[in-house]
Amino acid sequence: MGEKDRVKKVVFFTDLKNLHEAVENFNIKSFENQEVPVKLHMGEDKNKFYLRPEFVKHAIDELKKVKARPYLYDTTVAYPGLRSAVKTYHKLAQMHGFTQENVGCNVVIDDKGKPVNIENRKYIVAKHIYNSTHIFAITHVKAHIATGMGAAIKNFGMGGVTKETKIKMHHGSKPIIQKDACTFCGVCAEVCPFDAIDVTNNSWYIKKNSCFGCGVCVENCTNEGLKFKDSNIHFVLACAAKACVQNKNVIYLNELMRIADSCDCDSYAKNIICPDIGYLVSDDIVAIDKASLDLINDVKADIFEKTTHINPAKQIDFGEDIGLGSSSYQLIEI
Ligand code: SF4
Ligand code: SF4
Repeated sequence: MGEKDRVKKVVFFTDLKNLHEAVENFNIKSFENQEVPVKLHMGEDKNKFYLRPEFVKHAIDELKKVKARPYLYDTTVAYPGLRSAVKTYHKLAQMHGFTQENVGCNVVIDDKGKPVNIENRKYIVAKHIYNSTHIFAITHVKAHIATGMGAAIKNFGMGGVTKETKIKMHHGSKPIIQKDACTFCGVCAEVCPFDAIDVTNNSWYIKKNSCFGCGVCVENCTNEGLKFKDSNIHFVLACAAKACVQNKNVIYLNELMRIADSCDCDSYAKNIICPDIGYLVSDDIVAIDKASLDLINDVKADIFEKTTHINPAKQIDFGEDIGLGSSSYQLIEI
């Protein structure tokens, strides 16, 4: 691929009236007559910062203008709560205003899928993503406890696969102690968001039932005292995203508003950590996440890393390494 082909277009705007012009920069006309899953996260119960139905409706209207047949789409999650089962997720979608009346289309929640191999690992891609040729993704960008940033790569890498794969990815990111290297400094215990590690002068102990496999401890040990059980969560996240979107026509819309200190899956996300910035549209998942991160860093330098102790660029770097997309982009402001 030439350097010119590697540079992907990312359109930036602050007024939603420009969404139409933004999507017209990409191949939206090819969505005509297609059934289109609109992949999004409808927010955990009690979360305050998730995507707003009235915003989502703007994207649905754009898809209808080209005679596509959109429906809102997400998958069940691996942890307890309303989003853990299809029926209760539908209830939550209604509670959060994602109704036919408000948004103008149906909601589909999946918990079945088909396997796709990427980099020698199997990922179970949720059925409607697997079966679709055209997908529209709407992502609320915010900090994330395990990946530093939750954006489009996360929307697919965790949100586009079934529970079975989600569990496997988290399980593989749990820490294994390297006894010869550990200096019992206690940093891993300090940064663990789930209080799962105890360190004394000469012992290291993990409460296995408390560990969620976020990988924060491994990322923060500078003595090579911890290794991932299977693989770096940023790497498998990028691979799972590739399993979902490779060879498909996907348009991504990232919302850089209400940029919060934790994910929309966190009922206790509390604070806005960066002023509102605007919206981005692209057809390259790596480019749009890189542009999102750069814009946020321009306003609040390293805010995701400072908030989560995780480097949010890793998923982007791995994504580029495995051919998920390109981190070189041209920002077009409209
Ligand atoms: S951060 Fe690393 S070296 Fe320090 S206690 Fe944890 S595993 Fe050991
Ligand atoms: S993987 Fe996350 S939850 Fe588990 S011990 Fe490490 S920091 Fe704590």
